[in-house]
Amino acid sequence: MSSPQRKVAIITGSARGIGAAIAERLSRDRFSVVINYAASATEADVLADKIEMAGGRAIVAQADVSQPSDVERMFEMADVAFGGVDVLVNNAGIMQLSPIAEATDAQFDAQIAVNLKGAFNTLREAARRIRQGGRIISLSSSQVDLLHPSYAIYAATKAGVETMTRVLAKELRGRKITVNAIAPGPIATALFPEGNSREAIDHRPSLAPLDRPGQPVDIAAIVAFLAGQDGAWINGEVIRANGGII
Ligand code: NDP
Repeated sequence: MSSPQRKVAIITGSARGIGAAIAERLSRDRFSVVINYAASATEADVLADKIEMAGGRAIVAQADVSQPSDVERMFEMADVAFGGVDVLVNNAGIMQLSPIAEATDAQFDAQIAVNLKGAFNTLREAARRIRQGGRIISLSSSQVDLLHPSYAIYAATKAGVETMTRVLAKELRGRKITVNAIAPGPIATALFPEGNSREAIDHRPSLAPLDRPGQPVDIAAIVAFLAGQDGAWINGEVIRANGGII
């Protein structure tokens, strides 16, 4: 008996960090995966090789999510390699922390370009192309509720992602596509050292009553749930996944 056809998932920013854990997990769940990167070409190739060695199917796609033409090209690469797209995981993101009084225009523009415009670019392409029954999952942040000082711009971009998620869920009526977001608390990746003191990083995990830092695989498991059959009735939601820090 032949095994069922693999579905196809694009995971933005998946050469490293949370995105890489998501790509590995979805591959284990029998998705063909598109590993998107902006700069981390070597890491993307290494991950694709690892997935193929484990019996999965993966391609790498360079695309800056802030550029609409790059995003369009990435979806076209998925079409050519795998025949279509069923799942978008909108994971690429940057964080540059500063109190508003000291924030630069460059910090504002960069986070808007990648986190908000990047999310828009990928959501728009997904809304046009994702097959019936598909799933769209975006990464927000628990900072939308925590509202810690210095996170204003970053949290504002993620609040925008959550709003687009809820609206798009309604716009896709009739296509059996769910649109959700996951809002992690602190996860041990390279995102954190940027703009953070060592003291702050060491302190944060102790805030979670589950008494350990969050790991990329914790978030990958929630993506797998939403992308799989068991998550089919969750739509237009934001799942806060932070070990209980809020
Ligand atoms: P990392 O800094 O570890 O990785 C960021 C990823 O985003 C990289 O793969 C990077 O790719 C990619 N990326 C950045 N800019 C672009 C761009 N213009 N186009 C395409 N890809 C890009 O971050 P995390 O893994 O920690 O974060 C992943 C997501 O989770 C982000 O959206 C983040 O905001 C969110 N999040 C993270 C939390 C955490 O504590 N870590 C908490 C809450 C939310 P490349 O290396 O190729 O540039």
